[in-house]
Amino acid sequence: MFSRRKVIYEGKAKILYEGTEPGTFIQYFKDDATALNGTKKASIAGKGVLNNRISAHLMTRLEQIGVPTHFLKSLNMREQLVRQVEMIPLELVVRNVAAGSLCERLSIKEGTVLPTPIVEFNYKKDTLGDPLVNEHHIFTFGWADPFEIDEMVGQAYRVNDYLNGLFTGIGLRLVDFKLEFGRLWGEYDELYIILADEISPDNCRLWDAKTGEKLDKDRFRQDLGNVVEGYQEIAKRLGLVPESGLMSGGNFDEKLAEGLSVIDNELSRERRLRAVNKTPPKNPRNA
Ligand code: C5P
Repeated sequence: MFSRRKVIYEGKAKILYEGTEPGTFIQYFKDDATALNGTKKASIAGKGVLNNRISAHLMTRLEQIGVPTHFLKSLNMREQLVRQVEMIPLELVVRNVAAGSLCERLSIKEGTVLPTPIVEFNYKKDTLGDPLVNEHHIFTFGWADPFEIDEMVGQAYRVNDYLNGLFTGIGLRLVDFKLEFGRLWGEYDELYIILADEISPDNCRLWDAKTGEKLDKDRFRQDLGNVVEGYQEIAKRLGLVPESGLMSGGNFDEKLAEGLSVIDNELSRERRLRAVNKTPPKNPRNA
């Protein structure tokens, strides 16, 4: 690890270092995995490499449909250059199919297709286990403003529609996923809301469309077999690793991963960002 660099933040699965140019960070993907509120821990060789690559790819594709992301370019197997943003302390979970905490909380059968996607908010606070909150909590405690929530929810639906199509095309079902956003300010104090963090099998549930096999982090949470094989299968179907894979003798082989191509999100630098409208439209009922 690059201890010479200044660590900005260290989380459970990632480290943020100061960036190589102003306004950037280096995001390092660890192999560490945690579940059950941090009580279950492991190091899964290869997870960081695969998540780095999958997230870089998905963010680049999202940028191409106009979703602004923090991802700039991959630097190496485990690191990517990202825009420095001020993180909004919320997690947006989008659900298409019932799984995980939704099933536990409301006793819904896993696999139930939801007639319309559900968007949930969690307040990012490890010591509280990232509790579920609603807009009243968010506004009362000042975690985000109403126009920011509108922007994030709107982008979350776009991401959901796009990723559903993308994964359906490669025989996967996007059951649910989690997004995080950050704030960026322009020269004239205009506000931009940017998709940040990562999009990877650590924070998406992805099931094989034919067999229903879980290929995501639930393999770790529920002891469903080799975790990195699931992540690798997703990367293979996305065309991000060779068909022969990156494993030898059942283990992840870093040597095989070293030759992978670099992913550059060129659009993220060229594109004009759209500022968020801080003045809410007039309510026609009060006009
Ligand atoms: O556990 P739960 O069912 O609420 O998770 C919904 C989705 O959000 C899953 O894809 C899970 O991986 C993701 N998630 C996450 N980080 C959290 C909580 C959930 O990535 N802290």
